[in-house]
Amino acid sequence: MTDWLREVEPLTLKGQIAVPYTWWAGDTASRFFTALRDEGKILGTRCPECRKVFVPARRSCSRCFVEMDQWVELPPEGVVEAFTIVRYAHPIQPAEPPFAYVLVKLDGADVSFLHIVKKDLQDLGVGRRVRAVFKEKRDGHILDIDAFEPVGEH
Ligand SMILES: [Zn+2]
Repeated sequence: MTDWLREVEPLTLKGQIAVPYTWWAGDTASRFFTALRDEGKILGTRCPECRKVFVPARRSCSRCFVEMDQWVELPPEGVVEAFTIVRYAHPIQPAEPPFAYVLVKLDGADVSFLHIVKKDLQDLGVGRRVRAVFKEKRDGHILDIDAFEPVGEH
């Protein structure tokens, strides 16, 4: 080894890299996203043991540990169970602020569905009814639902 290399202080530098990647979504998620993209339908799966309906569709029940193969189409409407309003922009956010992250319990589902509300934020609240607004051009992504929006009286 060259002498000068023994005398060099070993510094470390911090950095970040972006690593684009692609992976197979799996058969259950593929069916869920294909239905969202091609038919504008939100699909869930029902557990054969506890009868709970999960959305987005999942392959196995996290409570009973059994495979779920009964598919259920859910309406694009439900109730806000929780929300938070985002007022600061960040590259990772799915929309320009202000918008809200919402947990929506679709009618007929037993678990909440995470999505966003982009308008009428002043009308948002727990218990508020909201409806999914689908994009015209969809590509098999959870944001094929552009956002949910408040509906009806509150
Ligand atoms: Zn179950």
